[in-house]
Amino acid sequence: MEERLYVKKPISAGLILSYKCTSKCKHCMYACSPKWKPDWITKGDVEKILRKLSSSLMPSPRGPEHIGVNYGLHFTGGEPFLNFDLLLECVRIADELKIPSTFVETNCFWCVDDESTKGKLKALKETGLKGILISVNPFVVEYVPFERIERAVRISREVFNDNIIVYQEIYYRQFKNIGMRDIIAFNQYLDEYDWALHYSELLPMGRACYELKDLFMKYPARAFFDESCVSELTRNWHVHVDNYFNYMTGYCGGISLGDVRDLDTMIREGVSLEDKPVLRALVTNIKSLYEFAVKEFNYEENDEGYISKCHLCIDIRRHIVQQTDEFKELQPRELYYNLKPE
Ligand code: SF4
Ligand code: SF4
Repeated sequence: MEERLYVKKPISAGLILSYKCTSKCKHCMYACSPKWKPDWITKGDVEKILRKLSSSLMPSPRGPEHIGVNYGLHFTGGEPFLNFDLLLECVRIADELKIPSTFVETNCFWCVDDESTKGKLKALKETGLKGILISVNPFVVEYVPFERIERAVRISREVFNDNIIVYQEIYYRQFKNIGMRDIIAFNQYLDEYDWALHYSELLPMGRACYELKDLFMKYPARAFFDESCVSELTRNWHVHVDNYFNYMTGYCGGISLGDVRDLDTMIREGVSLEDKPVLRALVTNIKSLYEFAVKEFNYEENDEGYISKCHLCIDIRRHIVQQTDEFKELQPRELYYNLKPE
């Protein structure tokens, strides 16, 4: 019998407008950076995608006018404010489709003065956006002056009232307390204030596997062999759909379950694993993926070890992508070329 992966209807989702960002954060799970091609999603594609998602997205428990990280729909990237007109158009389409609990995620690079910041936020609210998520952490402030983040928080509270998520609050409070100004290099931050890292959420995935590996314990590949990723890959909350129609689950950037335009079929009939050996291995166990990569692509274990199963997984996927484009589940390919420092 053909092997299939059964996914449920998504209850919350992020729409990636493009992977292009003003920053190249060391922890970015989707390997965004200024180097990505400006392949902005088109308005027509936004409409197609949101029509597919709209019926199953659930509102925040406080109602559709409120937001929650794992409810409704968020507009993300990359940095969505790099293309403000497109962002407005996305909000308009979502509003027409009555999608609940919509918010935008931003690094605040664009908050250069009060007037323009307020103007943009008010325009988004008037078009139907319910709230905003502001990224605050030691990786973003390597690129974005903290004053801009403070401005975004202050003015967002005026415009969106309590529909603002500061992610992560622990860093916002710390940066306020130390009177942070401008930007700060991560190494300098570590020298001076590393305690906050111990209390924060830092997922050992994506670019963090390369840029932040020194912060973590490392283990040989076999330490992860028994683990499978069925639960992450079939997770129906906080899925992402990108500007290339890739349907991605579990924060697993670079793994596409298929084309979101086929979502109804994917849900009804399951995702075929016959033609997706990397995905098939991942839902079996990490050992299968490792053995497949060693046998077919001469993958060599990293002597230094791995910080997580996701580190081993992405290192193998990156190795494979550099040798072949035959695996349609390894999308978008450009992600794999934006993981490591130059
Ligand atoms: S984490 Fe956010 S701000 Fe940083 S590179 Fe990724 S998308 Fe850009
Ligand atoms: S190991 Fe790979 S598939 Fe599994 S959760 Fe991590 S990134 Fe996703």
